[in-house]
Amino acid sequence: MHNPLSILQKLEHPLFDKYNLDVRVKRDDLLHNIISGNKWRKLKYNLEQLKANDYQGALTFGGSYSNHIHAFAYACKQQNIPCIGVIRGEANYASNFTLSWARHWGMQCHFVDRKTYRRRFETSFIGELKALYPNYFVIPEGGSNSLAIPGVAEILTELNNQVDFDTLMTPVGSGGTLAGLISGDSAANQKQHKILGIAVLKQAEYLIDDIKCLLTDEAKNHDNWQLLTNFHRGGYGKFSADDVKRIITFNQQTGVCFEPIYSGKMVLALLDLIVQGYFKQQERIVLLHTGGLQGLGGMIEQDRLDAKDWPPLAKIGNQ
Ligand SMILES: *Cc1c(COP(=O)(O)O)cnc(C)c1O
Repeated sequence: MHNPLSILQKLEHPLFDKYNLDVRVKRDDLLHNIISGNKWRKLKYNLEQLKANDYQGALTFGGSYSNHIHAFAYACKQQNIPCIGVIRGEANYASNFTLSWARHWGMQCHFVDRKTYRRRFETSFIGELKALYPNYFVIPEGGSNSLAIPGVAEILTELNNQVDFDTLMTPVGSGGTLAGLISGDSAANQKQHKILGIAVLKQAEYLIDDIKCLLTDEAKNHDNWQLLTNFHRGGYGKFSADDVKRIITFNQQTGVCFEPIYSGKMVLALLDLIVQGYFKQQERIVLLHTGGLQGLGGMIEQDRLDAKDWPPLAKIGNQ
């Protein structure tokens, strides 16, 4: 996949002035119209591996509103790769915002119940799927495998050429993106930065081991990173009316759109941490915008968000 350079944009906000902070956002949401930010980075070398070998197609896993499923379906269409999505939920989700697009781009959805979906990392379950879909390349949920790491690590190479900074923040779901950033920072052979992950799910402490497993050997003793687990706002996909209001206000103040599942939780954590005195004077902070705006489609469709507060559906998640 051709590597466009995502821009780095300075954000203006009264709180940043008051606390004397320099905050910029790495606009990976602009990398591609459809293949959302960090999913693009994680898929890059997975797709290369796929194409270099003689696979029949590709298979992956996700929830029925998953950004990864949406991005994966489009990336496979683009490269003419047959693809299967093993989807948590019932077949009637097939016509929701995310899966309508995924199917439109040619993904075949294989629906499984929650209990079966829990087996998604088990060798026995993957074996059953491989028997059903022989010679398919299997990519885990979220695209977070070892091939995701070098793709995400390239963000650090780009950033080091774009700006001097102290801290890099990212939202965290499965931990693949955070692991890639830590690995990239450790490889960059420059002053190490602080890499700060904001977990978007509840009881996310278990992710620390998953992240350590994904790190490159060189990065395993890199200790300049942290996963903050107190900013999940009630759990994955959960947020209060006040959380949404604060995100919308921030979007209006900065002119950048953050959504409430991932990047918006990072924004709320940033604002809370600033007021708590977490950052030092003149700290230079970079936020990674991981994309994910297609997720707004499902939330608007379910009346969890009001369409008038967000970009038009025609601008998120489709061509
Ligand atoms: C998938 C996703 C994440 C989480 O990335 P992980 O590598 O799973 O931690 C963050 N932001 C957005 C927008 C995503 O779609």
